[in-house]
Amino acid sequence: MIVRMRKAVLIRVFALSLGLAGLWTALTQPQAPVDLTVEKIADDLHVIMGGGGNVGVYTTPEGVILVDDKFDQHVPQILAKVKSVTDQPVRYVLNTHHHGDHTGGNQKLLAANAEIILHRNARDLMVKGNQPGVPRITFSDETAVHLGGKEVRARYFGKGHTSGDALILFPARKVLHTGDMFVSGSPFIDYSAGGSGIAWTDTLQAALKLDFDTVIPGHGPIMKRADLEQWVKTFATVRSRVNDLRRQGKSKDETAQLLKMDDLGWKPSTFWSQRSLPGLYDELAR
Ligand SMILES: [Zn+2]
Repeated sequence: MIVRMRKAVLIRVFALSLGLAGLWTALTQPQAPVDLTVEKIADDLHVIMGGGGNVGVYTTPEGVILVDDKFDQHVPQILAKVKSVTDQPVRYVLNTHHHGDHTGGNQKLLAANAEIILHRNARDLMVKGNQPGVPRITFSDETAVHLGGKEVRARYFGKGHTSGDALILFPARKVLHTGDMFVSGSPFIDYSAGGSGIAWTDTLQAALKLDFDTVIPGHGPIMKRADLEQWVKTFATVRSRVNDLRRQGKSKDETAQLLKMDDLGWKPSTFWSQRSLPGLYDELAR
């Protein structure tokens, strides 16, 4: 009996680690090559989409400031897209967080003499994960890059997607790059990286005090401030539904089956079902 139980536990642990490895692979490994596209927000502010996280491109007379840099393999295409809007070199990169689809280009861009900045928790997570291209400069609450008469601000308001998410503001353009703190549909709460589905909405409420009209989400199309406001409400509603089911004594599996989200426009993704929801259930029980 004991042997059989141990075997079952071992199989479960093995399956879990396989599942996590699969998710990690999805997070850190690029898929098939894709053609990146450029969207213009203003003459000096563009977004490079496709392949990994959305890249913000802010051009100044003294160089370019990027927000995030997708995967390593995308750097030549990113630089070609930058070249299509300016002759200036990339001088700074702000990473919104440590995930490989937002920091994968760091190593090549550091080698090309760009300076890279991210939240200190995100740097710790990169070091812990043995990720290449660890930046030299960190911040705790806020920092700014002033270049060519322009300014980009990075703010930290607390936990959410991970424990080290920066929200990047382009004050002159009233644009906020949220990284994965805002995506279309259900979120990935990375509990392995100190994320929190309880703190997340407070963190975004703090960010909503900033002055912006347009939002560049971590992935997907450019959005408006109202979309972010709505998403925060949706997040809070889904979370309280999870908590209600938990309080009614439903198991995690039952909660996953009974939880209604489609009326709010959220579809369950692999990240949602396998990581976000079980982690949120446990976090709510603490
Ligand atoms: Zn992410």
